[in-house]
Amino acid sequence: MTGVAILGATGSIGRSTLDVIRSLGDGFRVVGMSAGSNWEALAEAAGEFGPKRVALADESAAAKLEASGALNGAHLIAGPGASAEIAAAEDADIVVSAIVGAAGLEPTLAAVRAGKRVALANKESLVMAGALMLEEARASRATFLPVDSEHSAVFQAKAAGSDREIKRIILTASGGPFRDRPREDFEGITAEEALRHPTWDMGPKITVDSATLMNKALEIIEARWLFDVEPSRIDVWIHPQSVVHSMVEFVDGSVVAQLGLPDMRLPIQYALTYPERLPSDRAPLGPGDMSSLTFERPDTERFPALELGWRAAREGGTSGAAMSAANEVAAGAFLEGRCSFADIPRVVKAAMDAREPVEDTRLQDVRKADSAARAVARRELGLDGP
Ligand code: NAD
Ligand code: MG
Repeated sequence: MTGVAILGATGSIGRSTLDVIRSLGDGFRVVGMSAGSNWEALAEAAGEFGPKRVALADESAAAKLEASGALNGAHLIAGPGASAEIAAAEDADIVVSAIVGAAGLEPTLAAVRAGKRVALANKESLVMAGALMLEEARASRATFLPVDSEHSAVFQAKAAGSDREIKRIILTASGGPFRDRPREDFEGITAEEALRHPTWDMGPKITVDSATLMNKALEIIEARWLFDVEPSRIDVWIHPQSVVHSMVEFVDGSVVAQLGLPDMRLPIQYALTYPERLPSDRAPLGPGDMSSLTFERPDTERFPALELGWRAAREGGTSGAAMSAANEVAAGAFLEGRCSFADIPRVVKAAMDAREPVEDTRLQDVRKADSAARAVARRELGLDGP
């Protein structure tokens, strides 16, 4: 029996993970679940899966959960450190890291320090503190299993050769809902339009990140750490059908890709069952789904966020933390109608330009870079008022 702790259990990835565990049946047991403030959804999931412990970051939501009597015998942990406690628990063999944004950093680090198998969806934690996470993982013998579909694809494809034989990693991107929109129409883009993703059904923040291509920028850095490749050997191609999830080119010219329908349950299941593959009753990809697969170069003029990913990967240190934090502020402001779509990459670049480089980045440097970048972003967007 494999014990699974799910951080961010009420979100898009969290719910898909529960779906996978439901369909796998025996063999996997949910031992812990956490969420930010959505106590009703957490109570419902706890009712079905009967975890030993549940956690909520928001203490008033935790009080409501307790008063509702819906804990189903689970031990309740509340407050900012609650998810980290769920992550480090002895009976959690796998920790699914699926909190959105910087809030996922410390809980993911707690899982790493406890030597867990980390099924990583929270790419922001690796973007912010990749070097530190890998250093801690080496010490604790923790391992990362990518949940992000592109990185799961690379992980599967790279098994066709040895690491030395990899020439290039080709990440695919759907291009988002504005792939064909002329630049002069970008000012009018609304949050509602940005949230209508053509191929993937995801949480709001990553859906905006997909529309700006900031998600791919974050994924360049994620790939740099997960697969230990220099940024110059990571390439990005737009592939609107989201069927080829990514590719690995080997030195002999062979290109190995992983394909599937756009459904996160596939990479989630692989991260849980690796090195095995277990049967699933989900619809498979048929040749008919592959009759018109297209690939084009990304337009970095219209989507300047993409270049920032290579830049942050090259700069290292706290550059990823600054990039990710400023993006979180700007994407949040855009969702609230408080800035324009084109403001997002502009503000992220401003925060990266303002960053003070540090040598030998530690956790406190990451935290400092995060808050400095948030301050720059808020100032640039005029969010702090006059
Ligand atoms: P979401 O918004 O749907 O869910 C976020 C989850 O995080 C919720 O359960 C929420 O309660 C929890 N949360 C928020 N703040 C918290 C806090 N302070 N403490 C504890 N929990 C907190 O997001 P999502 O789309 O599921 O994305 C989650 C992560 O997975 C992101 O990093 C995203 O980039 C990554 N990811 C998502 C997808 C996808 O298909 N949705 C694909 C690849 C990667
Ligand atoms: Mg992805």
